[in-house]
Amino acid sequence: MDKPKLGVSACLLGHKVRYNGDGAEYRNLTRTWSHHLELVGVCPEVGIGMGTPRPTIRLVKRDDQVHLVNPKSGDDYTQQMIEYAQLQSDALINAGICGFVFKKDSPSCGLERVRVYTEGQPQARRNGTGLFALVFTTLHPHIPVIEEGRLSDPLQAEHFLARVEFFSLWLNEGKKGWSAARLMRFHNTNKLFLLSRSPSAKRDLGRLLAHAFENGTHPDTVALEYMTAAQKSLNVLTKPGPIAHAMERVLGRVSSKLTRTERQEMLDVIHEYRQGLLPRSAPLTLLRHLVRRCGMENEIHSRFISPTPLSLGLMAKV
Ligand code: SF4
Repeated sequence: MDKPKLGVSACLLGHKVRYNGDGAEYRNLTRTWSHHLELVGVCPEVGIGMGTPRPTIRLVKRDDQVHLVNPKSGDDYTQQMIEYAQLQSDALINAGICGFVFKKDSPSCGLERVRVYTEGQPQARRNGTGLFALVFTTLHPHIPVIEEGRLSDPLQAEHFLARVEFFSLWLNEGKKGWSAARLMRFHNTNKLFLLSRSPSAKRDLGRLLAHAFENGTHPDTVALEYMTAAQKSLNVLTKPGPIAHAMERVLGRVSSKLTRTERQEMLDVIHEYRQGLLPRSAPLTLLRHLVRRCGMENEIHSRFISPTPLSLGLMAKV
C-alpha cells in the first residue's frame, strides 16, 4: 500500500516560505513521520502570489467581518485567499490527503486562538482561525486536522495519527466503490478501535449507517457522512479507561484458551495501564502475543492493537 498522504503547512517541512524568508521545520514530521507518510507541503501566502520575503499580514475585524490585511499598506487579501483556499482544498482532496498539520498562530494557517485585531485598536483577541485553515475545515470537515504545537504531546500525536490511519483505510476501501455491504464491513472491522477511542461513536455510527440505508441514500453520500461523523467524535482525545475496556473485550474473546494465571496476569497489566503505572505499549504487547498464540489474529484485533505504526514509538509514551 502507498504511504498515506498528509497535508502540511510548507514552512513546517523546512521550506523557506515564511514572511522573513525562513522555514519553521518540525523535525518530528520531517525525520520520523515522513517514513510512514507522504508529506505534501502547501504555503497559502506564497500560493496567492505574495512571494518571500514579504510584509506581515494579520486578521482584522471590520464591520463584523474578519479580513486578511497588510496593516501597513492596507492591502486586503481576503478574497484572494478564499478563492485560493477553495481551489487548493479541492486539489488536496483529489490528491488523496488523509489529514492536515497546520502551523499555529498564523493568520492563514492557524487553526485556533489566532490573533484577531479590531480596526483602529492595538490589542488583539486570540479567538480567530487562519483564513486558509477556516476555508479548508469548513469545506472538508471529514479530514482530521491538528496544529504542530499539539504534536509535541505524545498522547495528541498518537491520537491524531490513529485518526489519519483510520481515514486512510476508509479512503482505500472507497477506491473499490462504496456499497452498503462494504461500509458495514468497514464499520465492523473498526468497531473495537472506535470503542476504544470514543465509546459512543461505534453505536452512533452504526445507527447512522442503518438510517441512511433505510432511507435509500446513495452509498457515496453515506460514506462521506460516516467519516464526517466519525472524525467529529474522534476529535476528542482518548482516555485510558475506554482503551483498557477494549483490551478487556479482546481478552474476553481469547480467555477460554488461556490458563487462569495467564488471564490474571493480563488483567493485572491492563489495570496498571489504567492506573497510569504502565505505558499503553505494555498491555498491548502482551495482548498481541496472546492473540497470536491463540490463533485469534484478525483485522478487528489488529486495527485496535496496532492503530499506528509501531516504529514511531508513540505507544511507549502514552
Ligand atoms: S504558516 Fe502557512 S502561510 Fe505562513 S509560511 Fe507557513 S505555510 Fe506559509
